[in-house]
Amino acid sequence: MLFRQLFDLESSTYTYLLASRAGGEALLIDPVKEHADEYLELIAELELRLVMAVDTHTHADHITALGDLRAATRCVTWMGERTKAECVSAQFRDGETIGCDGVKLRALYTPGHTDESFSLVMDDRVFTGDALLIRGTGRTDFQNGDSYAAYDSLFNKLLKLPDEMLVYPGHDYKGWTVSTIGEERRHNPRLQVKSAEEYAAMMAKLKLPDPKQMDVAIPANLRCGRA
Ligand code: FE
Repeated sequence: MLFRQLFDLESSTYTYLLASRAGGEALLIDPVKEHADEYLELIAELELRLVMAVDTHTHADHITALGDLRAATRCVTWMGERTKAECVSAQFRDGETIGCDGVKLRALYTPGHTDESFSLVMDDRVFTGDALLIRGTGRTDFQNGDSYAAYDSLFNKLLKLPDEMLVYPGHDYKGWTVSTIGEERRHNPRLQVKSAEEYAAMMAKLKLPDPKQMDVAIPANLRCGRA
């Protein structure tokens, strides 16, 4: 398998490039608009063909490359069924498997950070978007975020995955690249709560500033990042 974890320094976003073999079909998860040309260059260098680009949710901190990548390659752009971004080519449902030649991703509905957030499960790893971060979890204070829904997604969905499953998050602000479900269950400070009420109370205390690009990014992302 071909796997690359790409990084946007500005928003600390991880983008994932996946393909089963050189010369085959490829897909991108959570691509960032500013890097669209770089992704296409890398994909060409690896002799891959981009057939699909997916966003885990409507991002508030960066503009998606979905629209630009579709315009450049005719790839199919996907988001979960509850997205308000009508620009996407297709929407997946909870439990549905999507992917390309040799790469299969199972969509797992994990709302809480937003009401339309999905995680994507693949063999030995899960791409959690902002539902579960390394030693953190996605904020729940805008875009119909809901700490109770987040608790349910974390404890009743993501933590039910096997302990050894690798966790690849949508962001990391310290440069940590990967974790596992078991490691997060044991050591993620946000997961050391005993109830949804306790989780919601902890999240309510965070009082985080809005992301710098939020007012620009959300409306742009509802258009798949195109003007
Ligand atoms: Fe997010």
